[in-house]
Amino acid sequence: MATDVIVIGGGVIGLATARELLRLGARVSILERNRCGSEASWAGGGILSPLLPWNYPDPVTQLTQLSNRLLPGLIEILRHETGVDPEYQACGMLVLPNFNNVQSAQYDGAEDWCARNDFPMKRVRSCEIALKLIFDEPADKSALWLSSVAQVRSPRLLQALKRSVELSGGVIIEHTEVSGWRLGRGRVKSVITNRGEYTGVNYVVAAGAWSREILGEHALKLNIFPVRGQMLLFKTAADLLHTIILQNSFYLIPRQDGYILAGSTMEKTGFDKSITADARKALLERAHALLPILTEKTLVGHWAGLRPGSPDNIPVISRHPSLANLYLNSGHHRYGVTMASGSAYLLSNMFMNNSQPFDVTPYQWPV
Ligand SMILES: Cc1cc2nc3c(=O)[nH]c(=O)nc-3n(C[C@H](O)[C@H](O)[C@H](O)COP(=O)(O)OP(=O)(O)OC[C@H]3O[C@@H](n4cnc5c(N)ncnc54)[C@H](O)[C@@H]3O)c2cc1C
Repeated sequence: MATDVIVIGGGVIGLATARELLRLGARVSILERNRCGSEASWAGGGILSPLLPWNYPDPVTQLTQLSNRLLPGLIEILRHETGVDPEYQACGMLVLPNFNNVQSAQYDGAEDWCARNDFPMKRVRSCEIALKLIFDEPADKSALWLSSVAQVRSPRLLQALKRSVELSGGVIIEHTEVSGWRLGRGRVKSVITNRGEYTGVNYVVAAGAWSREILGEHALKLNIFPVRGQMLLFKTAADLLHTIILQNSFYLIPRQDGYILAGSTMEKTGFDKSITADARKALLERAHALLPILTEKTLVGHWAGLRPGSPDNIPVISRHPSLANLYLNSGHHRYGVTMASGSAYLLSNMFMNNSQPFDVTPYQWPV
């Protein structure tokens, strides 16, 4: 069977893009170097919002809002279609002071942003929301309660997406690494891999932190770079914590069955995905300070992933400037799980020449 679209990379972006294109009737194959969902998308915390959303430019806000409208429906379909529950829950996020030395004028800025964007935010004392935190809190209401922030369990979302792609007739070809391009007349003719050449009508690069390297000279001025993030995992009782807690860029994310993720680092160490003793110590100290009962709980995991870093966290969702059948969906940096459904939707609209819900020029390929 001929392939209309070859998607390179089987992370959350590649899988969501493939699924959306299949839904619109395309025949799609995914080429994945390892196993699908084994890189950044697996490593991520699954928070479905920028951490302090008022600190990001409009293209991040628009894409996040679009995704947050699409994702709950997608999750329901995935649950029924695949039997895998990605554990979507609107658990809210409690932002504790002193967040990045924000002064009261900036609180007002955050409140303005929330009002403008219809994003629920309330000033609270942390003890109103999370009883088991022990930290020295002023008597006034200096924490922020963002009740609409949701989370998914990233590995389960990936499992569901992969299964959905397969059930929709998508072909997933794992352990197949793209290493080059065969071009002709301003188009991609085929991709070269360790297992031969693959030919499609169109090609989508969704290779996360590796997207620029794969494209080589065809990357032009694309600025996507690896940013390592390390995370710890604790096992606790299921009712210990019900909401995400954020303080000075450090967060705790409780899963429904009592696992708590603590993260994460932001390190520019190239493509080195090792975990380090320094990061483990620093994350442990912060976790223990924020939720002291964690000193009694078992640390069961420590891992690292490479985010596809991008300037201002704005991904590139675009056709290549000179190769007519080559597209990119990458550079989602800290928020690829959050933005996956919206990014897949925008890219599919480009394929089908459908109108877009907003101006997509901020996501264009830089030249
Ligand atoms: C510690 C950490 C915490 C995070 N927390 C969150 C969060 O709470 N919320 C959120 O929204 N986001 C979070 N993120 C960010 C999010 O995980 C990423 O933005 C997202 O996973 C990027 O998805 P992707 O599909 O582009 O990349 P990836 O998941 O890395 O997928 C890229 C795929 O391309 C494949 N590939 C690479 N090269 C080749 C090749 N030559 N040939 C074939 N295949 C290739 C790789 O094997 C990989 O499977 C976090 C990330 C980290 C590391």
